[in-house]
Amino acid sequence: MIKPDAVSKGFIGPILSKIAEGGFSIKAMKYIQLSRGQAEAFYAVHHSRPFYEGLVEFMSSGPIVACILAKENAVEDFRAFIGSTDPEKAHEGSIRKLFGTNIQRNAVHGSDSDENAVVESNFFFSQFERF
Ligand code: ATP
Ligand code: MG
Repeated sequence: MIKPDAVSKGFIGPILSKIAEGGFSIKAMKYIQLSRGQAEAFYAVHHSRPFYEGLVEFMSSGPIVACILAKENAVEDFRAFIGSTDPEKAHEGSIRKLFGTNIQRNAVHGSDSDENAVVESNFFFSQFERF
């Protein structure tokens, strides 16, 4: 997902370009705004964390770009590629370092396991929207 901060700053194009350079291909993509309820459901695993309320507020504050990406070892490679959760700690050249604002507004989301990648893909896309 390209998060609302990066979308509002005009970084959709640069981020998709980086993703392509990284060797990821796009299997599905959409531009939508999550409702509060959808953002709550998407981040339900974090509901007991102190940052949950702010995260839900932020993630439903404006449009996002959701994508299914494909690559060998995609989940692990994408998380390495985007860098640490906190953009200040993310490595030089990573998407979060280049385009993130702070630990909450960190430009992109990446699934953290193959299982969650399937769950999150199904959250956004039907089988007819994948190519
Ligand atoms: P993501 O799941 O979005 O790919 P991540 O796996 O690096 O990020 P998580 O621990 O899953 O990090 O946290 C989910 C999201 O919650 C973060 O990307 C960030 O937007 C927000 N977040 C995490 N920790 C904090 C924090 N300490 N303060 C504010 N927001 C936070
Ligand atoms: Mg996570």
